[in-house]
Amino acid sequence: MTTYVHPFREGSKDQKDLLGGKGANLAEMTRLGLPVPPGFTITTDACRYVMHHGQNPPDLADEVAAALEDVEGQIDRRFGDPEDPLLVSVRSGAAISMPGMMETVLNVGLNDETVQGLAAQSGSERFAQDSYRRLLQMYGATVLGIAASTFEEALEAVREDRGAADDAGLDVEALRELVGSFQDIIERETGTPFPQDPHEQLRGSISAVFESWNAPRAIVYRNAEHIDHELGTAVNVVAMVFGNLDERSATGVAFTRDPSTGEHGVYGDFLVGAQGEDVVAGIRNTRSLEELEEVLPEAYAELLRIMDVLEEEYRDLCDIEFTIESGKLWMLQTRVGKRTAAAAFLIAAALIDEGAIDEHEALTRVSGAQLTRLMFPRFAGGERTAVARGMGASPGAAVGEVVFDSETVIAHEQEGRRSLLVRRETNPDDLGGMLAAEGVLTSRGGKTSHAAVVARGLGKTCVCGAESLDVDPKAREVRLDGEVVAREGDVLSIDGTTGEVFAGEVPVEPSEVAQYLEGELPADDPSATALVRAVDRLMGVADQVRRMQVRANADTADDAGRARTMGAEGIGLARTEHMFLGERRAQVEKLILAGDPAEREEALAELLPAQRDDFAGLMRAMGELPLTIRLLDPPLHEFLPDLTDLSVRIARAEGAGRSIPTHERKVLAAVERLHEQNPMLGLRGVRLGLTIPGLFGMQVRAILEAELAVRAEGVSPHVEIMIPLVGSVRELRAIRREIDEITEDVAAGTTEDLTTRIGTMIELPRAALRAGEIAEAAEFFSFGTNDLTQTTWGFSRDDVEAGFFFTYKERGILSDSPFESLDQFGVGELVRIAAERGRATNPELTLGVCGEHGGDPASIHFFHSLGLDYVSCSPFRVPVARLEAGRASL
Ligand code: PEP
Ligand code: MG
Repeated sequence: MTTYVHPFREGSKDQKDLLGGKGANLAEMTRLGLPVPPGFTITTDACRYVMHHGQNPPDLADEVAAALEDVEGQIDRRFGDPEDPLLVSVRSGAAISMPGMMETVLNVGLNDETVQGLAAQSGSERFAQDSYRRLLQMYGATVLGIAASTFEEALEAVREDRGAADDAGLDVEALRELVGSFQDIIERETGTPFPQDPHEQLRGSISAVFESWNAPRAIVYRNAEHIDHELGTAVNVVAMVFGNLDERSATGVAFTRDPSTGEHGVYGDFLVGAQGEDVVAGIRNTRSLEELEEVLPEAYAELLRIMDVLEEEYRDLCDIEFTIESGKLWMLQTRVGKRTAAAAFLIAAALIDEGAIDEHEALTRVSGAQLTRLMFPRFAGGERTAVARGMGASPGAAVGEVVFDSETVIAHEQEGRRSLLVRRETNPDDLGGMLAAEGVLTSRGGKTSHAAVVARGLGKTCVCGAESLDVDPKAREVRLDGEVVAREGDVLSIDGTTGEVFAGEVPVEPSEVAQYLEGELPADDPSATALVRAVDRLMGVADQVRRMQVRANADTADDAGRARTMGAEGIGLARTEHMFLGERRAQVEKLILAGDPAEREEALAELLPAQRDDFAGLMRAMGELPLTIRLLDPPLHEFLPDLTDLSVRIARAEGAGRSIPTHERKVLAAVERLHEQNPMLGLRGVRLGLTIPGLFGMQVRAILEAELAVRAEGVSPHVEIMIPLVGSVRELRAIRREIDEITEDVAAGTTEDLTTRIGTMIELPRAALRAGEIAEAAEFFSFGTNDLTQTTWGFSRDDVEAGFFFTYKERGILSDSPFESLDQFGVGELVRIAAERGRATNPELTLGVCGEHGGDPASIHFFHSLGLDYVSCSPFRVPVARLEAGRASL
């Protein structure tokens, strides 16, 4: 029988899938003997059961009742006892942390009677009433679905009435009044009074947490973070401890290291006389954790001791939620903390130095996505004065128009406008706006506020707590000392590292990591920072362990050179089409318009020397590294004017009675002849080579002659010739015969050996299926996953992103574009089949990928799992591919 409920003392940190991150870590802390209030976890299995059946598992109620009794025994209080009630919190906790996205209800178990018991036991009526009004407020919003603002407005009204600066300034009378008005709101909005039965409150809260898994913001978050919608959340029911009990009570958040830099030290925020959500919500300005030493020295010392225990146990940066009740410290949560990209590298390197983890483990702690973030530009040096300064909560350099609400940010993004989301504080409903913004600026809240935590998780630039700024969303302006510094639409620049806010647009420059990766700042240079050294170290580990080679897609000598400095071990795809543009259009046009073989040959002969120079340049740039040159791929009409433009031009000229030059008429005839309804499925790739005599031959001759020329200079290039869009082995064999003839011809004039590796792209489903026989005529395969995705799905790669993908994503049919991250089940299956069938008939076959997916982390792991030999991607993605290929090898 499935057990859906587990007391904390039964689990461990390895059970995140079942108990969720929070539950597993509460269990782990209990196991370590740390002070965790008693409680239990309802598993993610139960949530999935509810999702699939629309009701609770039949035994859940009994299991919860038994677990609650167990908690009562441990704490010696009864749930619903009017004299001395046990209160509980009901908290969400998925396997992968989704900060602030799901629900929590605190103080469950209070009602008109038990609130008196709580007051008597604690000796503080004020505390009891404050706890009760919080329950009403959270239960009303979360469980009963009443707009949170309804409660906030009532609270604000009472605060104003009493002249209280914040909630802490409300006296017992005011709180009693609030309890009354919150109860009225609930009855008015739902038609039924607030449930006085604690068990009904508990049931309602548990269901609300399950349901919050599918709240719109949670779905948006999972889409953004590529988290499976099927996982479900666990629910933790925990005996309440009270940070709002008295002057010796507090609540806070701490990190075992600085989440922005990874440095050891005391980092965190706390509030005296408050409950958990006050700190994270950013509604009250928090105090820095260091000050806790003066306020509550014993609890502070205990906290530091526990942080050491946790670092020792998790061998990583941990973040912690704690509560101090009358001087006694309680741990409410810990987890391996979210961190900035820079901190991820710094911490991984530091942990190797400390002997806590080995190099392989360190490599698992960083990712290609983080490396990409570190390559983003930063603000250029130079004199400038900040208009304000907050906390650098999530690094980066962001420039954008000031916008005060998420909807407008999202609308701007769709128009291609860059915005900064500027708020007093953010809340979980701002997620969409945060995702669409260049950066986030808040005037309230610390490094652990919602804005800071979420921005760090998303890698979004964020400055928080810029307190000197007065953010006024009603007037749609930001003021400093009463003066307007920015109106909506004005541009600000924010530096998420230093926390500075600048008026106007500040220029950017390459980051130090980008400079390092581009070979401009060696890691052993005295000016290299610890971050550069950490990146260098982990890249070194990745290069050492990875099995797959990383090549680059580059078409020019300059790009090839750049790719080499970024660590490319060859060119996996040199597209030759750009070599037919610009000044060479005239020759290409001549080729297309050629009326007879002589004219065609003349045009090809004119293109030959230019092609030879192109190839020689690439060969010089790559030296002895592999260089895969692909013969011409796109349909020829791409080199001619557009049919409609040309027809309109000619029709206008005719209408105006002007005579049309013969050349123009010939071009129009050719354009009409070559026009195709579906050019991507038309005359391109190998089909061109077979249809236009001499075209591929000219390219092959240029390659071989360039090779001879470069060899004469002392370089021995390693050239491979690649045929695009092959679907049948017969196409490939026919082209190979032509290549052999040309090779013989060129070889006749030299003593050099001109044997060249010939391979094909696999970018059509038929090619993948017939890979066995194709491999008999090829030395290598390179998967063209762009076309393979297009032809497998039947999605036009040029139109689809702007079309129905949006609907598909919104409706949960696709979470990622299959053109960005490989569809491993469909397209990936074809890659697997082709690799297996190809290797079966030709064990020497080299297998690579040169579609865009060669630079995508998830796809790289998949290609590694299929045993492919290399991936090839654009030069700037080469470092990411190296890192991920290394991670895939572990
Ligand atoms: C491909 O189709 O994946 C490929 C690399 O070729 P291209 O993008 O040039 O069509
Ligand atoms: Mg292609």
